[in-house]
Amino acid sequence: MAYNSYKEDEKSVEKSKLQTLKRLFSYLLVYKWTILLVLLLMGYCVAISLANPLIIESAIDKYIGKGNYGGLCKLLIIALVLNLLVTLAIKLRMYIMAKMCNSILLTIRQELYTHIQKLGFKFFDSRPTGKILSRIIGDINSLKDVLSNCVTTLIPDFITVVAVVAIMFAKNPKLAVAALISTPVMAVAISYIQIKAHPRWQLFRKKSSNLNAFLHEDMSGMRIIHSFTAEDETEETFDHLINEHKQSFRRAVRMSDSFGSVIDFSWGLGCISLYFVGIVILKAEHISVGTFIAFGTYINMFWQPINNLSNFYNQIVTNIAGAERIFEVLDTEPEIADEEGAGKLPEIQGRVTFDNVTFAYDKEKVLDNVSFNINPGETIALVGPTGAGKSTIVNLISRFYDANEGEVLLDGYNVKDVTVESLRQQMGIMTQENFIFSGTVKDNIRYGKLDATDEEIIEAAKSVNAHNFIMKMKNGYDTKLSERGGGLSIGQKQLIALARTMVSKPKILILDEATSCIDTKTELLVQKGIEEILKGRTSFVIAHRLSTIKKADRIFVVDDGKIVEEGNHKQLLDKKGIYYNLYMAQFNQI
Ligand code: ADP
Repeated sequence: MAYNSYKEDEKSVEKSKLQTLKRLFSYLLVYKWTILLVLLLMGYCVAISLANPLIIESAIDKYIGKGNYGGLCKLLIIALVLNLLVTLAIKLRMYIMAKMCNSILLTIRQELYTHIQKLGFKFFDSRPTGKILSRIIGDINSLKDVLSNCVTTLIPDFITVVAVVAIMFAKNPKLAVAALISTPVMAVAISYIQIKAHPRWQLFRKKSSNLNAFLHEDMSGMRIIHSFTAEDETEETFDHLINEHKQSFRRAVRMSDSFGSVIDFSWGLGCISLYFVGIVILKAEHISVGTFIAFGTYINMFWQPINNLSNFYNQIVTNIAGAERIFEVLDTEPEIADEEGAGKLPEIQGRVTFDNVTFAYDKEKVLDNVSFNINPGETIALVGPTGAGKSTIVNLISRFYDANEGEVLLDGYNVKDVTVESLRQQMGIMTQENFIFSGTVKDNIRYGKLDATDEEIIEAAKSVNAHNFIMKMKNGYDTKLSERGGGLSIGQKQLIALARTMVSKPKILILDEATSCIDTKTELLVQKGIEEILKGRTSFVIAHRLSTIKKADRIFVVDDGKIVEEGNHKQLLDKKGIYYNLYMAQFNQI
């Protein structure tokens, strides 16, 4: 597995951070009353912290300076109560925020999951599963702090900074200028760091997602890796990816960490300037000690929120890339979606018509002007070399892709004019990958029809010869199966999948290489089930074994995107064409 294949598509749309933040804000707006309550609580905290230096100022200048200790006591008690209430308000605010943020994350995660379910195969074809997982899990988690800090840092700290500046200028403009003299230095330095840090964090996110994708594939393909003794090579790739991940993190953190240094430097510079000017002015203009101490506190109150804001900004730069990637998925239009005004497909008889259908996955034509008409209940076998276009034909019937030209009709209804759900409800699809979900045998069969009763499930299993082996399992239909059906033989998995298809009672059945990976003995067992399932349904069977196909009503020989021969087994043998050659080649092998 070459790591190059994990490189993110560099063309991904670069959206502005502001736009992404705005969009995140729209999720917050749903909770406007909760936010109002949080802001009121925070407003109280900010007001008290702004008042504290004034309280100290009057304690020094009005009470201590004049020896009024009774008044001082009263003032201190009031200050104590007000500050205790601040602690309570902070606790309450944290609780409300945590609850709200979790609800928002849940909403985004649900939106993302629902949207991904709607996306066509193209989306999954072009992205490793690990990357999709890292968006649903990692990227969303990284939004948590951004969301909560939007309310708890951005708004109150901004208000604090403005209020502190206003109070400082109102009290003594000269001292205010001295204290804030280093602000422009900070602004320039921070803009520079910000420009440098954003692409570094973006790169780090990409590297993380590459690593996730690799790990996911590595775990899923462990059997193959062992059987080809490719452990060393995969380890090398892993080392390379983890190294890239580490390097990109270091580079990003190094840049972001300089934020703190700039703030500290400006803070220090402001203090020196305040004390220097203060001492000169204090001598000249007789500023009270209380005012001077209050200014010292205000300068801290100015830089602390600036520090918070810069940390928050840092966090945004770090995590906004995650939000951008989530929104990018949410903005991906599903290629196969219900057209406007699409109606429900009524129960069909099972007539399938291809009318001059042409299709290409990318640029190259895979189907070229294909036309046929299949009567309800007919079994059609599709044969031909690998890559001829057999699976593509059935993919168009189930509308996993849409034809570029021509029409695919079911009982005369164009598949594009009906809802995808109502169309797929009448289709049964079995491939060689019979996915077994973690759950009981019953759950796995019920997947074909979610409201099936236990009786329907048992009936379906009996009809495909699956009942006997299920009853021999430890807990019968309630036996728990692990993901991908570990512990079941391929034939047994196939039988469960057959029962799943049977329970959905499809009008059109597609068996795409459904028996290609099982041995002849198992095939005999499954064959009976398949024969049962084919009865009275329009069926398409793609199989390499010609013995499976012999019984089909009609055989289509597909080659290079065209149907080149058509007829039943006997007719095609008599014709002595491609089918005859295919048959003889296999016959000679037996
Ligand atoms: P068959 O079922 O006859 O083996 P397919 O219908 O699967 O053939 O494939 C026909 C052609 O389309 C092949 O050249 C194959 O490489 C290409 N193809 C199949 N699936 C995709 C896909 N998802 N994206 C791009 N090309 C594809």
